[in-house]
Amino acid sequence: MKLANVAEKLATEKQQFTIVSSKSNHNRAKIAAKLNKVHNILDTTSIKVRLTVVIAAVAAIGLGGLAAGTSIRMQHILISTHKENMKYIADRFPMDVEIYSEMIPLKEGARRAIDSLSTENKLIWIKNSAGEITAKSQALNKEEIGSILLTVKDVPLIPQVQDLKGSYWLMCATPLRVRNANLGQLYLAHNITEDQMMFLNLIRSLSIATVIAIIVMTTMIALYIHHSMQPLKKISQLTATISADKLDQAHIHLDQAPSEVKELAETFDKMLIRLAEAWEHQRELLSNVSHELRTPLTIISGYIQSILRRGTNLSEMQKEALTTAASEADRTVQLLQDLLDLARVDSGRMKFQQEKIILNDLIQEVVGMAKQYSDRTITWKSASSFITIKADSHRLKQVLLNLIDNAVKYSETRTPIKLKLEQRKNFAIIQVCDRGVGISLQQQGRIFERFFRVDESRNRAGGTGLGLSIVKTLVEGMGGNISVTSQLNEGSTFTIVFPLV
Ligand code: ADP
Repeated sequence: MKLANVAEKLATEKQQFTIVSSKSNHNRAKIAAKLNKVHNILDTTSIKVRLTVVIAAVAAIGLGGLAAGTSIRMQHILISTHKENMKYIADRFPMDVEIYSEMIPLKEGARRAIDSLSTENKLIWIKNSAGEITAKSQALNKEEIGSILLTVKDVPLIPQVQDLKGSYWLMCATPLRVRNANLGQLYLAHNITEDQMMFLNLIRSLSIATVIAIIVMTTMIALYIHHSMQPLKKISQLTATISADKLDQAHIHLDQAPSEVKELAETFDKMLIRLAEAWEHQRELLSNVSHELRTPLTIISGYIQSILRRGTNLSEMQKEALTTAASEADRTVQLLQDLLDLARVDSGRMKFQQEKIILNDLIQEVVGMAKQYSDRTITWKSASSFITIKADSHRLKQVLLNLIDNAVKYSETRTPIKLKLEQRKNFAIIQVCDRGVGISLQQQGRIFERFFRVDESRNRAGGTGLGLSIVKTLVEGMGGNISVTSQLNEGSTFTIVFPLV
């Protein structure tokens, strides 16, 4: 943990451009994460969104329909009483006129009947066939009511609600015949403003309550669905983090999940066990094959080298063919060695000969070795005092040579490679720096994975993608830590941290 902190601190002390660029990258990553979240919420293909939309639609149709049905029913109940009342007046009116007109003229009789049946809210008037008003309720003499009601055209036979300048009237008109005499049309109007206002307020409250109920219901259902989907999300996150070499330790454990999801998790677990077994067999096979191939290939390479050294009568073409064969054989031997190392680490058979090492001397030696097989400028800045750590000297040399080899492979021939050694607090810090192609921030997190290679087109030098994963395994196996800081087209620095003895 402490080592990781030191490596992290070192990374933060890198040049300004690295920090600025990684900050902007971080911001970009944050924005991308937010956009991804929004996309997830609006993702119409997800079960969560689809279920929520369908349930919300069903709730809206159901509750909306119920509210609409209730309103229509209420309106019907409210008006039907008034309608019956009006029908009763319309039926009774000719009889009343007939009774009155036994003593007085028909016209006067009609007026009397109007007076006896009119109230403040129930108004009656008669229009003759010429459209003139022959009799009307007293209240219709008032300008404000008279001007509104008497001018209404096309009054229906069946009572209907009319909105007249903010007041509501139930109106109907029926032909009036008394003793076979046509008196024209009888108009009836009932003021239902108060009832109608009450009804409209009720409808408004009902609509608001319905909308709130739909929103609350949809939100609760959406939350419930979201909650129910969590175990699935957990399975997905867990499986995403399971690496091939940790298959045997992976286990999906869900506490509170629906039984269907628990069943899925159990099936996943069983599959992981089968995968772990298959992986183990594959590892064994790889280890055995690597071992069996390495020895004959080393012998072949040795013979080719010897022919090249001693064969004085070889033609140029033969020499070139043998050189290519030797380098390919060496490359394959190296690959087999890497595979064997990994197989050893995986099976726990990798043993480290931990001993006290003076890093200044070891690095000096490694730089000397590296210079032998590369004509690159390799500079090295040692610490002023001796730095001693505990590690396996053979493996540490392998690590440093591997990093130098990468630095050579991924940088231009004219650029130098620098090694640095320094002490910070209780830690020894070794750095391998190059001014090469660099590694993007995105890729930096993955280069220590097995078989990972940054964009093949950038990798001019052949490789297997195993080097850095072995380096990391070896460094960590010896009790150290490795990290990288890099900037595209500027260069990379690999930092190894070991605790001092
Ligand atoms: P390889 O055999 O491909 O070199 P490694 O595990 O050593 O495999 O490296 C993994 C990838 O990391 C390489 O393919 C390369 O793209 C990148 N890489 C490693 N070292 C450097 C470096 N010093 N500069 C730029 N890229 C590097």
